[in-house]
Amino acid sequence: MHHNPERTLASHRGPNRVTHEPPKKDDFAQPAEPAKYIWMSGKMVDWDKALIHATMLGWSSISMVFEGIRGYWNADEEQLSVFHLDAHLTRLMRSMKVMRMTSPWSVDELRSAIVRLVSSNEFTGDCYIQPIAYFGDGTPGYLPASGRPGEISIFSRKSSSVLGEGSTITCGVSSWTRISDNVMPPRVKAIANYQNSRYVADEVSLNGHDFGIILNQQGKVSEVSYACIFIVRDGVAITPPLTAGILESITRDVVIELLRDELGVPVVEREVDRTELYIADEAFICGTGAEIQAISEIDRYQIGDGGIGTVVTRLEQHFHDVVRGRVGDRSDWLTGVY
Ligand code: PMP
Repeated sequence: MHHNPERTLASHRGPNRVTHEPPKKDDFAQPAEPAKYIWMSGKMVDWDKALIHATMLGWSSISMVFEGIRGYWNADEEQLSVFHLDAHLTRLMRSMKVMRMTSPWSVDELRSAIVRLVSSNEFTGDCYIQPIAYFGDGTPGYLPASGRPGEISIFSRKSSSVLGEGSTITCGVSSWTRISDNVMPPRVKAIANYQNSRYVADEVSLNGHDFGIILNQQGKVSEVSYACIFIVRDGVAITPPLTAGILESITRDVVIELLRDELGVPVVEREVDRTELYIADEAFICGTGAEIQAISEIDRYQIGDGGIGTVVTRLEQHFHDVVRGRVGDRSDWLTGVY
């Protein structure tokens, strides 16, 4: 089975998903067909020439921070739009700040670099973009960072989307505890944080679930290994607050805004108990990689009727229209590549 930090395999989803062609095995790992270029420290480098020295393995990852960003293709307009690019780059800068890593590039420069990279790779379909920032000078990662500049590289690759497929997922509550702000701050999108996610993913996968829900040190629901979680109770969407040990998710903000302002669904950010998950009318996960996916069961408790509820159905359709550039009012969330 194949795991990755941003998404699960369709073939491993719950029983209620509509049958469709599963994504290629290597969709979110090393792509079968590599992109032409990688952006490395200001240069466009051929895929097979983008090398770093073996001594960089290990320590450079300790303080490595990154972003996961999606580009969505609109076939009618033959346009590829990067979703919430500035929000992702702002979060990258914040992650670097907490790591005491300075950035040699501004948000404006990185935005231009990403647009140039994706257009140079000539993608004419959905894609995934991953900037990483790390100390490239080989200093052991346990020594003080002292505000040194980071190196930035940007990868991009073709990807696929589950939006519009009507798939559902199953979840299990993990026995692992979420990392916390005073241990390894989850609001920093650090590669090292994903060791916590990986323990969770392995455990729940061995127990036959698609995704793991993680409780925080207070025993309250935090998030899923690489996505945020919402439940719906009596017409109100509920999600754990930003202080519950979660990443400050961009999709979570989008979902809150779309539900409240466009779909007329009240949203409450508050602590969520584990058993509230079991009795929810609807539940779903959201994130850049995970997109929006309804949960059919949690710890083998069926959620709602086990299918996709009305709130998630409306949200997923609207979100799909927004990211594909079919909602004019939301075009400021998109950065056109071509
Ligand atoms: N939580 C974690 C731990 C994640 O890795 C992600 C994916 N980046 C999310 C939440 C969702 O964040 P976003 O909507 O910004 O992708």
